[in-house]
Amino acid sequence: MNFPSKLIEDAVNEISRLPGIGKKTALRLTLHLLKQPEVISDSLTEAISKLRKNTKYCKLCHNISDQEICSICQGARRDKGLICVVEDIPDVLAIENTSQYNGLYHVLGGVLSPIQGIGPEELKIESLLYRIDHPHGEEPVTEVILALPSTMEGDTTAFYITRKLKEKGVKVSTIARGIPIGGELEYTDEVTLGRSILTRVNYSAD
Ligand code: ZN
Repeated sequence: MNFPSKLIEDAVNEISRLPGIGKKTALRLTLHLLKQPEVISDSLTEAISKLRKNTKYCKLCHNISDQEICSICQGARRDKGLICVVEDIPDVLAIENTSQYNGLYHVLGGVLSPIQGIGPEELKIESLLYRIDHPHGEEPVTEVILALPSTMEGDTTAFYITRKLKEKGVKVSTIARGIPIGGELEYTDEVTLGRSILTRVNYSAD
């Protein structure tokens, strides 16, 4: 693609780094921004910059949070004995939207993938085990629910975590298979997802 100006080319290149945005769309957005009053692009730049600099992650569950400990982990009516393990932040939002789950979460930040070089150290697995040994508050953790993608990587991760949890005497369960989890969890309809959490089954790594 040839550009009439280096400034436009730079903007198109940056915008097209976003997922799902090709060069054509990026060019359309760039030209659109050029036509808007300057205040529009200024506030967009400011919002993105603030988002990156000021976003914090809960130090317990690694969900996005405005405070050190997120509102879910602090929730007075939450069942602190339950931890639902998910691949990433959109999965927390999807499960929260079902209103069927009242426990806590643990965001791994990915799944194990030897091909992509993602090992246990790259994920928040150690901090999950720490939470089992050192519960935040009075209640011990009694059950860990695995809501991981039904892919090979998701299965490997579930197996690995279950092995690690085995010595700790915690019940491990998994949400019903057959529904898309992980990257697609956010698109699953709320009723199906909510039901699969309620009807979760025991998980065994044997
Ligand atoms: Zn939290």
